[in-house]
Amino acid sequence: MAYDQDNIFAKILRGDAPCFKVYEDDMTLSFMDVMPQAEGHTLVIPKFPAENLFDLDPEYAAAMAKTVQRVAPAVKKAFDVPGILIAQLNGSAAGQTVFHIHTHIIPRTNGIDLKLHAREMADFKELEKHAEKIKALIA
Ligand code: 5GP
Repeated sequence: MAYDQDNIFAKILRGDAPCFKVYEDDMTLSFMDVMPQAEGHTLVIPKFPAENLFDLDPEYAAAMAKTVQRVAPAVKKAFDVPGILIAQLNGSAAGQTVFHIHTHIIPRTNGIDLKLHAREMADFKELEKHAEKIKALIA
């Protein structure tokens, strides 16, 4: 399947759609997931037009991993959780719903189940507060 320039993350990268940004550099962007599976669910995307990991330039794959290593500790601290789930889905059979590659950073706490994937829209005021909280903790 050819990369769709009009997928929502491509629009966010072009500035044609809004996001609650937590971090940005030359090769990556990180922002809040609007339908979080747990409070603090954050995404990292590369600034490269690839649907999945197999289409991604390895330099951008490395940049995405580097940004995950930078943002995830801030998410962990901001939400004071013992665990962080890092996930990356390739293909609709794997559960992928947005076809611009991204990594999920999801806070986990023992005994608290994840909400359903990409199902319930969060309160935007809350997401804005969460983004500010994470941003302040990024080293
Ligand atoms: P996937 O299913 O492709 O691994 O994950 C896509 C993620 O993007 C889901 O967790 C979903 O909640 C999130 N998402 C879908 N649309 C938007 C949007 O417009 N803005 C943001 N920030 N996240 C989105």
